[in-house]
Amino acid sequence: MALILPRIEKKSQVAVIGAGLAGLSCASALAKAGIQVKVFEKSRGVAGRMSTRKSDGWQCDHGARYFTARDPAFQNQLAIWLEQGVAAQWQTPIGVYENQAWHSSKSSDARYVGTPWMTSPAHHLAKSLEIHTGHTISSINRAQQQWQLNTAEYGLLNYHPDWVILAIPAPQALALTKAIDPAITGLHEKAKTEGCWTMMLRFNQAITMPFEAAFINEGILSWVARNNAKPQRTGEEVWVIHAQSQWSQDHIDADPLTIAPQMIAAFIALGGKAPAAHAIHRWRYASSATSLQEGFHCDFERGIGYCGDWLNGGRVEGAWLSGQALANTIITAD
Ligand SMILES: Cc1cc2nc3c(=O)[nH]c(=O)nc-3n(C[C@H](O)[C@H](O)[C@H](O)COP(=O)(O)OP(=O)(O)OC[C@H]3O[C@@H](n4cnc5c(N)ncnc54)[C@H](O)[C@@H]3O)c2cc1C
Repeated sequence: MALILPRIEKKSQVAVIGAGLAGLSCASALAKAGIQVKVFEKSRGVAGRMSTRKSDGWQCDHGARYFTARDPAFQNQLAIWLEQGVAAQWQTPIGVYENQAWHSSKSSDARYVGTPWMTSPAHHLAKSLEIHTGHTISSINRAQQQWQLNTAEYGLLNYHPDWVILAIPAPQALALTKAIDPAITGLHEKAKTEGCWTMMLRFNQAITMPFEAAFINEGILSWVARNNAKPQRTGEEVWVIHAQSQWSQDHIDADPLTIAPQMIAAFIALGGKAPAAHAIHRWRYASSATSLQEGFHCDFERGIGYCGDWLNGGRVEGAWLSGQALANTIITAD
């Protein structure tokens, strides 16, 4: 049976669910092509997992640690961010701890961070977009060739886009579309999302470790870094520590009060100190155990698309590229 493709015309309406880097990248490319786009984000702000916790006198990047740029298209985007001052290279030497010894990381990749916050590149992308924060899309439904969006906060929206783009992690996409789109179940199973427990440790004075940032390849931690070592960070001395992904996943539903002492003890065992104060964050959908290389998924019959890091090798760069690739496919479809 031939597919009836609802061709995207310039005046078509597209709803993007999720204002992480993938959603913002996709929405920006669609908007540049003259398509009317609205972005819906459940949180108070944009950037998703490229996030920074800000509080009185301290700040900490508790999601993405840094990002790399290997693809020429993403390098072009990075050049704009560097020029605009919303990103900078992070030149702190990175260490590795394994076999109970420290050594320098052999990776020669240049690493970048948002400035002054990890969220800054996302804010830069968001500037020219219509974004509705505080809108959790709780269900979507297609009727008469248009979508209906239901939100947890405002109920059914009086807005009927032709297309819906899900720029959200696989389990959250599955929850919204499993009854509508059979393809999502298989994609979700392949992605195998894993969590990550993250702690932000605050100190009254600077502490020293063999490296200001390091991959930890044994025990329950996977990463320790001095947030203040990143460019343009101000405020109290803060270290961020990530638990190893399998350990995090095995303990994902545990009480944070039982997780925190174990992670702090592991940090102290590496030569760190007990913090004066701490905060903990559970990333339920931090990364995919399996890196899918689909790039994106697009269903012209239903007018539904998916983008995000989980479809494109994980990571910040993968998320941005995934959003671009989906947008370009929709823009050029005929
Ligand atoms: C602890 C940690 C460390 C990391 N370290 C690195 C690193 O060093 N380098 C690197 O490149 N990457 C790293 N990453 C991964 C990187 O952060 C992600 O690959 C990237 O930010 C994903 O972007 P995204 O747009 O695909 O998804 P997200 O950033 O997750 O964006 C999805 C957005 O959708 C919103 N949303 C979800 N459901 C709904 C709904 N129903 N309605 C409305 N909005 C919704 C969410 O609030 C979120 O803002 C790390 C991630 C974590 C958690």
